[in-house]
Amino acid sequence: MAEVVFDHVTRIYPGNDKPSVDDLNLDIKDGEFLVLVGPSGCGKSTTLRMLAGLEEVNKGRILIGGKDVTTMQPKDRDIAMVFQNYALYPHMTVADNIACVPKILKWDRDRIDARVDELLELVHLEPGDFRDRYPAQLSGGQQQRVGLVRALAASPELMLLDEPFGAIDAITRAKLQDELLRIHRGSGKTFIFVTHDVTEALKLGTKVLVVDGGRVQQYAEPQELLTHPATPFVRELLATQGYGSDGPLPRAAMGGGGRA
Ligand code: ADP
Ligand code: MG
Repeated sequence: MAEVVFDHVTRIYPGNDKPSVDDLNLDIKDGEFLVLVGPSGCGKSTTLRMLAGLEEVNKGRILIGGKDVTTMQPKDRDIAMVFQNYALYPHMTVADNIACVPKILKWDRDRIDARVDELLELVHLEPGDFRDRYPAQLSGGQQQRVGLVRALAASPELMLLDEPFGAIDAITRAKLQDELLRIHRGSGKTFIFVTHDVTEALKLGTKVLVVDGGRVQQYAEPQELLTHPATPFVRELLATQGYGSDGPLPRAAMGGGGRA
């Protein structure tokens, strides 16, 4: 179970006078797909990094599954993270990249092989073709697919994704988003995804958290965000990305192929 609670969490980097995350209170339900959206510098990555244990919390607490993890080591949190430029290990094959964590966990060879093939099939990379390739022999989209399933390899309770599709062309990106939705539904795990792209947030999120200047502007379902933007900032953010009063509606809002 991975319900996540931020309880009055604040992060001020040394030398800064303003908090990068300012008194964040948030309750993320088990199995949720939360998307954190906001402009560059608003504190998205800092929030994820504190949750992963990669950044210190100055005030407040973080709970995962009811347990206070605020000062716990990253390796004890059952979390996997995917980054935009999380390069695969270039000297290792696709299979060895995916097998990293299972090897650390001392899974036996057969179990690892079966898991690698299962994961490659999950993202439509034919194992016989891709298992023994090196990262340089893959396209950007294929590399990010491998990055995704590498993070999933040991079935972590929490998946954190920091702008994972930022550097990928629009068509491949849409495909990866669809695959990620499928993976999330199939896994039943909690996913937390960071983006500055409103369309991506509305398409992927079961819940969307809009942040500006380290502070929460709105925490709502995509539909609610569109129909009832809580602040002028949210209205402006939607409008600048084409979601004005008569802008295009995302799939989620039409009850069609989105999260309905
Ligand atoms: P985002 O991911 O939303 O773009 P970040 O969480 O990376 O934003 O950064 C939030 C704010 O904290 C920014 O103003 C940034 O300059 C500042 N910041 C991030 N990392 C550090 C750091 N290591 N030292 C000082 N300030 C930082
Ligand atoms: Mg960031």
